[in-house]
Amino acid sequence: MKGLVSSLAIDPIEKKPLFRFLPGSRVFSVGFVGCNLRCPFCQNWQISQEFEEPQTQVSPEALVEQALASGCPSIAFTYSEPSIHIEYLIEASSLAQERGLQTVLVTNGNLNEGPAEELLGHINAVNLDIKCFSAATYARVLSGSLENTLAFARIAAAAAWLEVTTLVVPDLDDWTLAIDGICSFLASLSRDIPFHLSAYHPAWRYGEPRTRPELLSSLAGRAKRELAHVYVGNIAGEAQEDVCKACGAIHVRRRGYQVRVENLVPDPEARGGREAREGNALCGRCGATAHYRLATEPAKSSFRNAMPEAKP
Ligand code: SF4
Repeated sequence: MKGLVSSLAIDPIEKKPLFRFLPGSRVFSVGFVGCNLRCPFCQNWQISQEFEEPQTQVSPEALVEQALASGCPSIAFTYSEPSIHIEYLIEASSLAQERGLQTVLVTNGNLNEGPAEELLGHINAVNLDIKCFSAATYARVLSGSLENTLAFARIAAAAAWLEVTTLVVPDLDDWTLAIDGICSFLASLSRDIPFHLSAYHPAWRYGEPRTRPELLSSLAGRAKRELAHVYVGNIAGEAQEDVCKACGAIHVRRRGYQVRVENLVPDPEARGGREAREGNALCGRCGATAHYRLATEPAKSSFRNAMPEAKP
């Protein structure tokens, strides 16, 4: 089997975005072409909607070899909608796991439940886009299904590490109601699911101005009523810190894609395998459980070293 690959790159894992899965590490990222949705604001429309078939064909074996050679601890299927190439994904991700790589899927979640379960059996971490909370808008504007997306979220939360992203596209939904709906749905699965509220910028067929930072901040405030880990993204110069809920120690500092992990240690009693979704970290200062999945081997990341040491 060969995959038609549109892009291969090494990214910070925070770019997927995954903020609590192998934080500070790099991920070998592969993109294909095509998508089963038609979001008019698509920020990757050159490879999802209006594309020429790429000429680069890569077998799953060659892809995994390249990922291993990159030194990254993980491989991500990302950029357009990878799940439409599900047979290739299952083959490549199962091979990657056999060779010791963690596997990441970035998806819109518009799969039927049977294929979703089969694919997620080979995936360690997922970033799922929930684009709005209106079934009518999903169908009419995006050519997708809210019901399928939420069903996928339920399966992913049980099978893998799950983080969720919502791009706040002006006028796509009533955002106050939508964020309340999305967050209460996610909280019914787990309050610990990290939730990323991301700023939109004009792209493809959608010309509304960029999302206002004040709107993102206000929506993040609402999201925090339901969820424990809420982030805003795509804002220039953003800096964020995760702190221990028990003792206040800083766990992760982020400035853009510069990341430094502090005061986090692996939990010696954490379980592996499918239980990896539960996290495996403790606060290095007070020993409280911290919701992260850490590499069992330290990630070799230039990004981790790109940030200067904090002054005491
Ligand atoms: S699901 Fe993602 S890749 Fe597909 S059209 Fe929408 S924004 Fe673009």
